[in-house]
Amino acid sequence: MKAVSLETYEIVIGLEVHTELLTNTKMFCGCANQPGAAPNSNVCPVCLGLPGSLPVINQRAVELTALTGLALNCSIEEFTRFDRKNYFYPDLMKGYQISQYQYPIARNGWIEIEHDGQRQRVGIRRVHLEEDTAKLTHRIDPATGRPYSLVDVNRAGVPLIEIVSEPDIHSAEQARLYLMELRSILQYLGVSTGNMEEGAFRCDANVSVRPIGSAELGVKVEVKNMNSFRAVFRALEYEAERQLAAIDRGESVTQETRGWSEDRGITVSQRTKEYAEDYRYFPEPDLPPLALTPQWTARIRMQLPELPSARRRRFVDQYGLSPYDAELLTASRATADYFEETVRLFDRPKTVANWMTGELFRLLNASGLGIESSKVSPPGLASLLKLIDEGTISIRAAKDVFERMFQTGESANQVVEALGLRQISDAAALEHLVDQAIASNPKSVEDYRAGKVQALGFLVGQVMKASRGKANPAVVNSLLRARLDAQQRD
Ligand SMILES: [Zn+2]
Repeated sequence: MKAVSLETYEIVIGLEVHTELLTNTKMFCGCANQPGAAPNSNVCPVCLGLPGSLPVINQRAVELTALTGLALNCSIEEFTRFDRKNYFYPDLMKGYQISQYQYPIARNGWIEIEHDGQRQRVGIRRVHLEEDTAKLTHRIDPATGRPYSLVDVNRAGVPLIEIVSEPDIHSAEQARLYLMELRSILQYLGVSTGNMEEGAFRCDANVSVRPIGSAELGVKVEVKNMNSFRAVFRALEYEAERQLAAIDRGESVTQETRGWSEDRGITVSQRTKEYAEDYRYFPEPDLPPLALTPQWTARIRMQLPELPSARRRRFVDQYGLSPYDAELLTASRATADYFEETVRLFDRPKTVANWMTGELFRLLNASGLGIESSKVSPPGLASLLKLIDEGTISIRAAKDVFERMFQTGESANQVVEALGLRQISDAAALEHLVDQAIASNPKSVEDYRAGKVQALGFLVGQVMKASRGKANPAVVNSLLRARLDAQQRD
């Protein structure tokens, strides 16, 4: 594809993120909100959409939505209301979805992202609360070859928030950074698992292109079906190029919805875009509007935890970490908590950071585990680091100890004893080996005295070998020096 248009055109992206809230119960009924439960086990007349059943608002869901709005620097509206969004689809039990249209809970916020060393704000237009739909699974009957679909109503009525950004994003990479930051904020708040592969965090994008300098937006294409951060990145890159190529050819872009096809690496037209009026929105007659008073909002604000950006800055200031390490160690709240708990027990932040970003992350990645399931706890890591610090084990041995702790859940001391790795730091125990090394390597001794410093390294190596790696090299080093220098003076 030609890239000519990029010089005169810019890409404009707005993102809509849907995320399921971690409430105990569903949005409008008392059914458990329990992803992974047996299909259709958490259902009742309300979430099945049976006639005559009436919804009741889940207070915690409203609180979590407001909390999210506050974390995204939004203002919380004093008047908010639910609306009916009417459409027909097999996953919609009632034939309408209870959502919010004119009066969302939160508006006018922003998220800060850092791109190419530059900080940039992406506006948040609104955060509103709605209910999730049932889940459809499409299959082919192996006997007849005919397609059929299964409905799991457990997901119907699960509280869902929609977070709509302003069209402030101008590349696939910025979109990726925005989503990473947003997900991290949601996880810190504890409002969502943020798991994209499991569908708890879903993203649609509005993509258009326009001449640089133009204030008007170009024709918008909605891109759906992106199920991972990588898919979002690839889909947006593809879609922007597709639109630019169309303009290059003198064609116009059609307003439509396109689905990302992961296998083919392209977006495919699904339907021409529906308009808001097609949904015949009207105020939900079965629910009262809500008055969110400033006092109520102030109480919610008090529940705000330290957010990722603030924690990142604090890790740099308080612990002297590099911005890069601070970023890695605050990516999730669990990781940041792990770090701080370890540092409380072993007060060498940089050493802790190195072990976490090195050995711990390596083993977690290799085993596909999250830090929450690590068999090495913060006290476990701290006690290992103390053993190194006291000279009980060498750093080299510590890596083996750590790996075994990670696999078996044994304590550092248990592994050190089991593997016989306790380092010999006692000078009296090493003197004999030092004397032996000096006696059997007269050439190296001569070289050392002639000023060849590297000869000392060889002698240290001989003692290490004789101790089968258990001697403390620093102690050996100073013993050898003392002995050789003393003999020289004689
Ligand atoms: Zn229910």
